[in-house]
Amino acid sequence: MESCLAVEREIDKVLSKFSGVRDHMNYTIDELIKSAENICYELSNGTVDRELTATQSIILNQTVKRIKEAVCRIGSEHKDLHSTVSKVGKAIDRNFVSDFCAVAKEGAFEDESTRNLLSEVVCEHFLRQGKLDIAEALNEEAGLNIDESQMEPFLELHRILGALKQRNLGPALRWAAAHRDQLLEQNSTLEFRLHRLQFINLVRWGPEKQAEVLQYARHFAPFATQHAKELQILMGSLLFLRQGLENSPYAYLLDPIYWDELCDIFTRDSCSLMGMSVESPLSVSIRAGCMALPPLLNIRQIMLQRQVSGVWSNKDELPVEIDLGKDYRYHSIFACPILRQQSTENNPPVRLVCGHVISRDALNKLSTGNKVKCPYCPIEQSPSEVKQLVF
Ligand SMILES: [Zn+2]
Repeated sequence: MESCLAVEREIDKVLSKFSGVRDHMNYTIDELIKSAENICYELSNGTVDRELTATQSIILNQTVKRIKEAVCRIGSEHKDLHSTVSKVGKAIDRNFVSDFCAVAKEGAFEDESTRNLLSEVVCEHFLRQGKLDIAEALNEEAGLNIDESQMEPFLELHRILGALKQRNLGPALRWAAAHRDQLLEQNSTLEFRLHRLQFINLVRWGPEKQAEVLQYARHFAPFATQHAKELQILMGSLLFLRQGLENSPYAYLLDPIYWDELCDIFTRDSCSLMGMSVESPLSVSIRAGCMALPPLLNIRQIMLQRQVSGVWSNKDELPVEIDLGKDYRYHSIFACPILRQQSTENNPPVRLVCGHVISRDALNKLSTGNKVKCPYCPIEQSPSEVKQLVF
């Protein structure tokens, strides 16, 4: 943020200088045009072959001189403006780091399987956004084996969301009905909410849709026990069919926020039904990277000063702990109480026979032969009896 402000200050300088130069230039040019016009007028009053009087010639010379001077001045002001503009470029170079190589992990995408994974994540991102043509091109060029059946759910999701954004509930209602059992299994309220909005849509029409509204209310039968309170409200709103919902205590039901909420719920529920995360893994990674980059660049600077090489260790660990906040925590973390290190894939947590949990590295350090003493109880046991824990 500070970097942005520093660059913005330079830009402000350029803008104020530019408007100053422009005002001054317009004024000077107007003046010069006026005096040139005066001379023209005076000269045209004389006859064609008459010679200039002494005064006229002096005035003419003076004006030509003034014009030359003014042009010169405008030229130098313009040059000056250029130097201020180039300062903005320098400020950008000074305030923003353009070389991130030092914090990149060498060879991270060198082998084919990780490269394919990356391409798949990028491809999935485009599919989520409904950009089928880009996803297909990538699928072909990167040699991914994503076939149509894998693409279809994304496209369907996108089609339904597009319709919802245009206030068309039809496709979403059909989808929810087709997946009713699975949705109910995960306690989803999606289908009820869809019907509720459709119902409110009909109520807005007023008395002319009365029969249709009553007919539609039948859709609520399966939700009667789970959503009794909300259904009472909806039925209450019917009293104001004639008067108009907007002039009733139920006017809040027309709030557009219900549509936004529905889009969110649909995305969340359909993603979890398909076994996908709600947000695109690519955008999550990029956002996390943007947050982690400044501290990483800082620590790199310090490590350079202390002549420690490389920001990445061999253990896939960062030299500093970077807290990205609650939204970026997806699973529990185990820190070994003995080694005071976070568990990793290579050093997973293990449960001892007595129930205490330490990391595998700690277990290896504590074992002597085929015996290990729990550092807490301390019960003696064999290292082969421990069980690896998965969080
Ligand atoms: Zn123990």
